[in-house]
Amino acid sequence: MQKIVIGNWKMHGDPAMAHTLALQVADVADKCTEKAEVVLCPPAILVLQLATWLVGSAVKTGGQDCHIQPEGAFTGDTSAAMLKQVGCKYVLVGHSERRKFHHETNADVRNKAARAIKTGLIPVICIGETEEERNAGKAKDVLGEQIRECIPEEAISHNFILAYEPVWAIGSGKTPTADDILLMHDYIISLTAKRTGLDLEQIHVLYGGSVKGDNAREILAIEGVGGVLVGGASLKSEEFCRIIQAA
Ligand code: PEP
Repeated sequence: MQKIVIGNWKMHGDPAMAHTLALQVADVADKCTEKAEVVLCPPAILVLQLATWLVGSAVKTGGQDCHIQPEGAFTGDTSAAMLKQVGCKYVLVGHSERRKFHHETNADVRNKAARAIKTGLIPVICIGETEEERNAGKAKDVLGEQIRECIPEEAISHNFILAYEPVWAIGSGKTPTADDILLMHDYIISLTAKRTGLDLEQIHVLYGGSVKGDNAREILAIEGVGGVLVGGASLKSEEFCRIIQAA
């Protein structure tokens, strides 16, 4: 299985920075296509330009979110079809920042993932426990609930990806131990197999949370880690390229 390396730029970037970063990333990623699929998820306003600059490169473009509905009176939102039309292959859904700041529920995440699949996009369904949930010994319960409630019926084969992102590891510089990641990925993969009826090998789970050039190699080598979802480090060309090379 090719490792998938996704850069989530969040609400950062401008056209000049995006152009430079996209070309630098493409230069490295295009030499690693056998082992890694590289995806950039810029803010919605930059998706079209980025996809245009990346024509001829193997680097794919993704959205950071999409609406549940195909179109309509939803000021400020972006539809899955719009992302698809400008060249996206992927869309993140259920990122913990969407859950926290936009109060998205598991049902919202499932509906967004379903919309993405129906539109021909691959949703990257983000799940993960908070620090309080982990400290209370509830991490597996929370993940179990998210898996049951966020994966739509439409998820049948290679048309969706999961990203395990412990919320306390995002942007904090803290990461779980390798044993912890191994355990959680194993749990997520087996539960998802039961939930979807897919074989274990068909389930692709990325790890996300403070992945950097320095720890990427170790994290990507853990069994069950199908790639990484990278926030902060994806905004620094050298750092992100080291992660691609690790993959
Ligand atoms: C993220 O936002 O998905 C993320 C993993 O962020 P960071 O890499 O900065 O922890």
